[in-house]
Amino acid sequence: MESTMMDGTDLALEQRPAQRRSRHHQIVIVGGGSGGITAAARLVRAMPADVAIIEPSAKHYYQPLWTLVGAGVFPKERSERDEVDYIPKGATWIEDAVASFEPEDNAVVTAGGDRITYAYLIVAPGLQLNWDAIKGLEGNVGRNGVCSNYAYDQCERTWQTIQGFTGGTALFTMPVPPIKCAGAPQKIMYLADSHFRRSGVRDRSRIVYAAGTPGIFGAPDFAVPLNAVVARKGIETRYKHDLTEIRPDEKEAVFKQLDSGEEVTIPYDMIHVTPPQGPPDFIKRSPLANEAGWVDVHKHTLQHVRFPNVFSLGDASSLPTSKTGAAIRKEAPVLVKNLIATMRSQPLTASYDGYASCPLPTDYGKLLLAEFDYDMKPAPSFPLLDPTKERRAWWELKLHGLPALYWHGMLRGRA
Ligand SMILES: Cc1cc2nc3c(=O)[nH]c(=O)nc-3n(C[C@H](O)[C@H](O)[C@H](O)COP(=O)(O)OP(=O)(O)OC[C@H]3O[C@@H](n4cnc5c(N)ncnc54)[C@H](O)[C@@H]3O)c2cc1C
Repeated sequence: MESTMMDGTDLALEQRPAQRRSRHHQIVIVGGGSGGITAAARLVRAMPADVAIIEPSAKHYYQPLWTLVGAGVFPKERSERDEVDYIPKGATWIEDAVASFEPEDNAVVTAGGDRITYAYLIVAPGLQLNWDAIKGLEGNVGRNGVCSNYAYDQCERTWQTIQGFTGGTALFTMPVPPIKCAGAPQKIMYLADSHFRRSGVRDRSRIVYAAGTPGIFGAPDFAVPLNAVVARKGIETRYKHDLTEIRPDEKEAVFKQLDSGEEVTIPYDMIHVTPPQGPPDFIKRSPLANEAGWVDVHKHTLQHVRFPNVFSLGDASSLPTSKTGAAIRKEAPVLVKNLIATMRSQPLTASYDGYASCPLPTDYGKLLLAEFDYDMKPAPSFPLLDPTKERRAWWELKLHGLPALYWHGMLRGRA
C-alpha cells in the first residue's frame, strides 16, 4: 500500500548502495514527525547546538486530523505541510532513512549508505502499520466498503464509504494494542452513527464495534461516559475480538475470540479497519530495542536504559503511555531538559508522568476530552470543568485550537 512510504519503513534494504560518506553531528534525531521536530525545536531554542534530523519524507502530517477528514469535516490536504518549513532554523535536515544503529560506536547507518556519528541521539521514527497482518486487507482498503483512517491517502475514502452506506451492517475494528491514538477506531464510529442518523439510514442499520481490547477504554473514569455513548447510540460491542482476515468478495470479517480461540465471522456492508501496529522493523532488530521491539527508555527520564547518550520519545519509545501527539507535547520538554543535563554531566531532574490525551468526538459538535496519566487517573488541563462530560467547547478545540497549537506551538518548541 502506497501509504507505508510515509513511515519510511519500506525502503528496499537490498537496493542500498555501498557505504558512501561519513559525517558527524553533535545531536542526531531519527525521524522528523511530531516527536522529532518538537524535540529539535525545543533544543535549538534552549542552547546553541549542532542538530541533524534524519527524515525521509518531504511532507509532515498532523495525523489527528484524519479522524475529521474521514468524517467529512476537512479535506485531507489540511493535515499536510512541507517538512522543510518545520525544520528548526539552524538544524540540518538529512533526507534519508536510518537503516541500522551502532550505539556502541555512536553511529547510525542510513538506507542511502551514509554512516553518521553523534555525541547524542534522539530516536523518534514513529510506529509501523502492519496492514499485511490481516489476511485479505492489503490492496483492498479504499474499495468495496473497506476503509481506514490510518493513512493519509485513505482517510478521504472513509468519508466516501460512510456517505455511500445505505444500510446493513457497519463494522468498526480495533486491534490488540498498542496502537497510536487508541481512541481513533471508535471516534470515527460515533461520527458515522451521527451521519447515518442525519442521512436517514440509521434505522435500517446495525453498528458493531469489534475490538481486541476487553472494554471500550483503558482509563475507567472515561470508560463510564463512553459506555453511555455506546448505549445511547445503540452500538453493539464484541470485545476480545481480534480481526484476522477480511474476505472482500463475500464481505465477511473473521475474528479470533481471544478467550476461547474460536473463529467468529461477521458479515458487513462497510468496515472501518484499524490495522495492527508495532515497532518499526529497523528498531526491533537494533540493540536499542527492548524485548517487545520498542526503544528501551526509562519511563520518567526518557533516557535509554543501556546507552545514556540515547533518548527516545513518541510512538517508537517503550514509554507505557497512550501513543499520542498529546503525550509527546509533555514528553519533549522532559527529554530536552534531561538531555541537556546529560551533556553537562548533571543529574536528570525532569520527570514525565505519562500524561496523554484522547479527544473523542461523540457527535458532530460534541466531544469528550479524555486526559490521563500513567495511573490512568484523569489529568485535566481545565480542572474546574468535569472532564467526563461531552462538550461543544472541546469539539471546537479539536477542530481549531489543537491544530493551531500543533503547527504554531509544539512544532516551534513553544508549547
Ligand atoms: C487516525 C489517527 C488519529 C489520531 N488522533 C490523535 C489525536 O486525536 N490526538 C493525538 O494526540 N494523537 C493522535 N494520533 C496519534 C499521533 O498522530 C501520533 O501519536 C504522533 O504523530 C506520533 O509522533 P511520532 O513522532 O512518534 O511519529 P510520527 O509523527 O508518525 O513521525 C515519525 C516520523 O519518522 C519518520 N521515519 C520513519 N522511518 C524512519 C527511518 N527509518 N529513518 C528516519 N525517519 C523515519 C517518518 O517518515 C515520520 O515523519 C492519531 C493518529 C492517527 C493515525
